[in-house]
Order: sequence, then structure tokens, then C-alpha cells
Amino acid sequence: MRNLVFIGAPGSGKGTQSARLKDSKGFFHVSTGDLLRAEVAKGSDLGRELKSVMDAGKLVSDDLVVKLLRANIDLSSHSYIFDGYPRNITQAQVLDKEILSDFNYIAIYFKVDTEKLVERLTNRRVTKDGKHIYNLLTNPPQKEGVCDVTGQELIQRDDDREEVIRKRMSVFGDTVGPVLEFYKQKGILKEIDAQKPVDEVFSEIENFL
Ligand code: ADP
Ligand code: AMP
Repeated sequence: MRNLVFIGAPGSGKGTQSARLKDSKGFFHVSTGDLLRAEVAKGSDLGRELKSVMDAGKLVSDDLVVKLLRANIDLSSHSYIFDGYPRNITQAQVLDKEILSDFNYIAIYFKVDTEKLVERLTNRRVTKDGKHIYNLLTNPPQKEGVCDVTGQELIQRDDDREEVIRKRMSVFGDTVGPVLEFYKQKGILKEIDAQKPVDEVFSEIENFL
């Protein structure tokens, strides 16, 4: 099975589709955002430093993220979905030349309008580990504030506030162009209309597997 690199703005549905592919196709899922939030949850000095960068909607340093990523994957045993990495051209080059150099992969770009993203993210609720994702408008939990699957409390991420969302969108807009061009040049870029309902987006991805 090929590895998948998901490129898309915050809220475009990468985590939602990753969870489905993990359950139904056996992919492993690695989200650099989840790894960073786990670091923040430890309450260390590093965690506090990371939190202030993330709450401002900015990107964490490339070196730190790639170190965290490498420590959490085993490509010789599993096929991965890379979610939230790469965020810029440097990260895309490191992934291609140093991490996935011996492995087959494609990049899938999730396209969604900005206003739709703001609506999705302000209504997103997740478990603390980020593994279960809900939406108050389109996919609410059966019992308010509680995960249907695990019974864990559902939270709103600190960076899912409108002003931070807009900053994250702007960072994404500033950095994604060269990343898409990189994958296009390699002939491995696929695009999907991620504005469609979850099931339809899933079917589009299935066509590329
Ligand atoms: P990302 O991982 O790209 O930041 P998520 O998968 O967390 O995005 O999705 C963001 C929000 O949008 C969540 O509340 C999720 O339930 C919702 N969502 C995801 N995909 C869709 C879709 N195709 N249609 C409507 N809502 C969606
Ligand atoms: P995400 O969960 O993907 O929405 O990421 C949440 C936040 O974590 C981002 O706004 C960044 O501050 C940080 N982050 C996640 N992935 C990366 C990455 N690959 N490079 C730099 N910062 C990242």
C-alpha cells in the first residue's frame, strides 16, 4: 500500500478522512498537530513554548516537527497517512528525500473555500487526543459534550477560535503554493473536492488507492 500525504487547510477534513482510512484500510495515521498537542499536554517548558506558537496560529520550527515525526513512524512496517506535514516546501523536501525516499507515496490536496473552513472549525469538537472528531452542525455527538465511541469529554481546541483560524488560513495560503508545485512536478499530486459530504470525499480518495 502506498503512503498518503494529505495537504489541505485547517478544517479541510484531513483528520476525518484519516480516521476512516485507518479503520477501513489499515493505514497508520500520523498528525504532527496531534503530536505537538500531546507534547503541550505534558506541561513541560517545551510544551508551554509550543502552545504559545500554536495558539497564535503560527508554525512551529521545522527541526522540532521533523524530529517528532521521525520518532513516531515506522515506515518499514506500515503505510502511513501524513496529516499536517508538510506545511512548507522545506518540510516537503525533507519528507521526500530523507523520510519517504525508499517508499512509494502520493499527495492528496483537499480543496475547500475559506468561509466553509471557518464554519467547520468554529463548530469542531474533538477528544483530547484528537482521534475522534465531531461537528456541532454536520456530525454532532449523540450526547452533548461526550464522545459516542469512547465516552471521553469533547473539547474545543484553543486554536479553533475565529481570529486564530483566520491567521492559520493565512499561513496556509502563504506556504502551500510551492508544496503543491513540488508534488505536481513529481507527478504525484491528486486533488479532491473536499467541500462535498464526508462519504463522497472518502469515495474520491478511495479511487486513488
Ligand atoms: P482537518 O484535520 O483538515 O483540520 P477535520 O477532519 O478536523 O479537519 O475537520 C474539520 C471539521 O469539519 C470537523 O468538525 C469535521 O467534523 C468537519 N468535516 C470534515 N469533513 C467534512 C465534510 N466533508 N463535510 C462537512 N464537515 C466536515
Ligand atoms: P493542525 O492540528 O494540523 O491544525 O496543527 C495545529 C498547529 O500545530 C498548527 O497551527 C501549528 O502551530 C502546529 N503544527 C502542526 N503541524 C505542523 C508542521 N508540520 N509544521 C509546523 N507547525 C505545525
